[in-house]
Amino acid sequence: MRLSDLHTGEKAVIAKVNGHGGFRKRLVEMGFISGKHVTVVMNAPLKDPIEYEILGYRISLRREEARMIEVVSESEAKEHIAREHAQEVLVSDEEFLINREMSELASEKGREIRVALVGNPNCGKTSLFNVASGSHEHVGNYSGVTVDAKEGRFEYGGYRFVLVDLPGTYSLSAYSPEELYVRRNLTENVPDVVINVVDASNIERNLYLTTQVIDMNLRTVIALNMYDELRSKGDKLDIPQLSLLLGAPVCPTVSRSGEGIPELFDTVIKVYTGNDPRLARHIHINHGPELEKSIDRIKEMLWRDQDLHTRYSCRYLAIKYLEGDKDIEKIIAALPFGAEVEAVRKEEVSRIKDILQTSAESAIVDAKYAFIQGALAETYSRHIEDRPRRTLTDRIDAIVTNKWLAFPIFILLLYLIFQATFTLGQYPMDWIEWLVARFGSFIGDFMSDGWLKDLVVDGIIAGVGSVLVFLPNILILYCFISLMEDSGYMARAAFIVDKLMHRIGLHGKSFIPMVMGFGCNVPAIMATRAIESRKSRLITIAILPFMSCAGRLPIFVLLAGAFFPRHAALALLAIYALGVVLAILSALVIRRFVRDDDLPFVMELPPYRVPTGKAIWRHTWEKGKQYLEKMATTILIGSIVIWTLGYFPRHEGQTPREQQENSYIGHLGKAVAPALDPLGFDWRMDIGLLTGVVAKELVVSTLGVMYAPSAETAQEEGEVSDTQLQSALVSSVSLPAAVAFMIFVLLYFPCIATFVAIKNETGKWRWAIAVCAYTMVVAWVVAWIGFHLTALLI
Ligand code: GDP
Ligand code: MG
Repeated sequence: MRLSDLHTGEKAVIAKVNGHGGFRKRLVEMGFISGKHVTVVMNAPLKDPIEYEILGYRISLRREEARMIEVVSESEAKEHIAREHAQEVLVSDEEFLINREMSELASEKGREIRVALVGNPNCGKTSLFNVASGSHEHVGNYSGVTVDAKEGRFEYGGYRFVLVDLPGTYSLSAYSPEELYVRRNLTENVPDVVINVVDASNIERNLYLTTQVIDMNLRTVIALNMYDELRSKGDKLDIPQLSLLLGAPVCPTVSRSGEGIPELFDTVIKVYTGNDPRLARHIHINHGPELEKSIDRIKEMLWRDQDLHTRYSCRYLAIKYLEGDKDIEKIIAALPFGAEVEAVRKEEVSRIKDILQTSAESAIVDAKYAFIQGALAETYSRHIEDRPRRTLTDRIDAIVTNKWLAFPIFILLLYLIFQATFTLGQYPMDWIEWLVARFGSFIGDFMSDGWLKDLVVDGIIAGVGSVLVFLPNILILYCFISLMEDSGYMARAAFIVDKLMHRIGLHGKSFIPMVMGFGCNVPAIMATRAIESRKSRLITIAILPFMSCAGRLPIFVLLAGAFFPRHAALALLAIYALGVVLAILSALVIRRFVRDDDLPFVMELPPYRVPTGKAIWRHTWEKGKQYLEKMATTILIGSIVIWTLGYFPRHEGQTPREQQENSYIGHLGKAVAPALDPLGFDWRMDIGLLTGVVAKELVVSTLGVMYAPSAETAQEEGEVSDTQLQSALVSSVSLPAAVAFMIFVLLYFPCIATFVAIKNETGKWRWAIAVCAYTMVVAWVVAWIGFHLTALLI
């Protein structure tokens, strides 16, 4: 009986909750668990929703939802008692007896597992069906032998199995009647567990169907059949790892001999009872950012129809709908807002076509194969002799993921990208700086002297300039990153560093953001979105500030040049290396404090493609826009605040240095001075550090003002040349203090833009604050050590 069949006031015990994973999860969270008692509070014949009482509180379910729950009702239990042991019934104990009977019947009903066998033709489904159910269906070595579904029943491990042998299919699109038949069987009769039979000797093609079963979000066990053939070929497969990557247990079987079949059904029972969440977790095949955007958009719309998301996984529907699946089109056309969804699909399909230069359908197929490629690259090693058809992708991969060549090629590429970003980028940077300065003085000419002019010229225009100046760097960096991503190389790069990154609790995909961090922490933090694992992502974000960004570089150049004139490059290298080492150490520490979800994710390996100019431009520009939109405002506000703090209170006739010293920020600098005294800094350096909180770029210009060698030079423009500043620094700052200062600048509070980026990406102020506190502590401690070590050594 179904829960929806009960009348008002009737009681029942839940036997089983049917349906796809998302639906079951929701109901289980509400308390609809097998064995629980439920009472109908209100159920008028046409009324929807129906009100139930379960676990002492009231919940309404829609009729469609209640239809998915199998129950044993009081009346059923009574009938059963009357039939089976009529004479034993004692009137006084009736209530108790009925309850007991209901529970017993429900648990018995729950001990029936309906299992569907799906797989490619000729993968051994019928053989498996036969050994398991003991029946003797015809086994043939050509496709199409199984035309209809056959049902076999048997008992095993205390459970009754109803096993259905479905026709063999290569995929679950609605092209052939077999495919449609299998699909309807999975979505409409939702089996309790699906056994996906995979031919181990042809695993790549077979897993394609698996990716579609994963989309449907059904409880799945993978039978890795013909395992004998894989073994005899000498191939190796890391089965536990593959299970984790696919989110479903994989059981090797040889259905011709029956090897592995008991273990297979033991696993089916485990998945059915759901006691081991790691055994069967629901994963999403990552179709890449563009497709995922489209999928999400359609999925959200479909969610509005309640009956639809009761019956189907909306993600699955969205994917199929994007593929242009005729059967799903019919379902969606029947929705009251079907036309709306259709319009969105049109939009998305043309967007995909525009960006990826292929149809949505083939983009989805590609993404699924990229997923399979990635999963197999991590788990499967072919016996050397038989390397089948080598595609262009295989040949490129043979070089770029080669044991010896992979790292040199990778490092060379990184070097080139860095060179391009910072040397090429220098030109437009200079132009922008020049333009901003021109523009400032141009505007200044029109304004009368006074604080308003200073605010506009030194506060606003210079502030905007300090944001704009990094735009070329960011655009160039992103242009290269899009090139690597769209060509398919990025996936390989992440793949080859994955092992190293795992040692510190990170993921291969963390590597790219960390490299980008050397450019600017802000886009790097935004780039962590590609990391699926929450834990890896949080750790990556937390350690990213230690990657010394380009904004810190001028400070290091200044100080290294002043204090290590002969070994400036070495000093620079040491500072960068220190950042990396501390990042690694921090990762090792932080991983202990982040909730573990360290489940492996497949690193998709898409085929290589020549990237299109249009796509590169679009990705690059999108990132540039993001940078401007999100960060411009914070940096701008920040520089105005710093400007204000440094400008007021006004005193007539002061040199810029005296002005700074007596301004609010000067007082602030002196206020924090005691905390930084142990590091050997004087208050002028402290003020520099304070302005660096807004943007590290500001530190050098502040130091320029503070250490202005003589009143006249400083008064002219408020600026001094680097060499003058360097000699001024050498004469008033000790070497240990300079070393400590460099270390402190490397490690302390990233900058406001980074702070905001961390908050935005983690969604929590808590994380942003924690990262800042952590970096401050580390900066202080390490700078202190640096100070004393240097003092000891000289
Ligand atoms: P179906 O099309 O998926 O139902 O596949 P069948 O059960 O009809 O099997 C196809 C062929 O594969 C038959 O010749 C089987 O004998 C053979 N076969 C099935 N399972 C295995 C296995 O585990 N190992 C080997 N070597 N052959 C198998
Ligand atoms: Mg068959």
